[in-house]
Amino acid sequence: MPNTTTRPRIGIHAPIAGGIQNALLKSQQLGCDAVQIFSRNPRGWTARPLGDEEVARFREVREETAISPVVIHANYLVNMAAFDRVVRDKSIASFREEVLRGITLGGDYLVLHPGSARGACEQDAIRTCAESLKRACDGIELGSFRILLENTAGQGECIGHRFEHLRDIIGACPTLNLGVCFDTAHAFAAGYDLRDEDCFDATMAALRLNVGLESIRAVHFNDSKAAYNSRVDRHWHIGLGCIGSEALARVARHPGLAHAVFLLETPQDEAGDDARNLNALRECIGVGVIV
Ligand SMILES: [Zn+2]
Ligand SMILES: [Zn+2]
Repeated sequence: MPNTTTRPRIGIHAPIAGGIQNALLKSQQLGCDAVQIFSRNPRGWTARPLGDEEVARFREVREETAISPVVIHANYLVNMAAFDRVVRDKSIASFREEVLRGITLGGDYLVLHPGSARGACEQDAIRTCAESLKRACDGIELGSFRILLENTAGQGECIGHRFEHLRDIIGACPTLNLGVCFDTAHAFAAGYDLRDEDCFDATMAALRLNVGLESIRAVHFNDSKAAYNSRVDRHWHIGLGCIGSEALARVARHPGLAHAVFLLETPQDEAGDDARNLNALRECIGVGVIV
């Protein structure tokens, strides 16, 4: 369905088991506009190369389903801020592969966690992340394909839990045109409150000041099982976590975010979880639910 109103496009993180195109078909079944996928196993260094037929099939089903945008989440091993040279070099090679796979598939965005500062201070980690990004993308024509930095919960020594970190990485890579993926559960766990109007306004002001709302191309719309400021990353069903529906609805209805794609990364433990959370998201936005 074309996006004729100013409501955000919505989707889920969909599985690619049995073929990457299955994520598109599942999204279509659920009445989604958009999708997030891994383009490969998210927990291994080596990825099976994409076959020509696989790519053609994905692009064909994409045409048929008109699912857009297609957001790819980078694998979890990549640590572009790694102090350890071996890990950093492997991460740069792996992320370069993610970028090339994303472009081959015709994806729109590639979401990346900035990484962990283990063994270095935050400022050095931010510098390292920016340098790694430039090396990974060296010589690649990105075109309209855009890398989005995701804010993190700040667990361990991860950078990216302050919007200033994202600002500094973006500023250090002017030729890459980096965007932002705003994760509500991560922000909340990192100490950005959303629960009452004043706190919400302060969080939005911090986003506007540091990265600008227009650079936020994706919102990871998650409730949080972890408490406010706990720096623990535990996504939860919409409305059943510590953030709650009322606060999440403020995010979903914010006119400055209507251009972004809203993606659920909520638990998929029981049949119907995705449909229920999508309807909770639709209610937050203020559009009709699907029964
Ligand atoms: Zn993520
Ligand atoms: Zn996320």
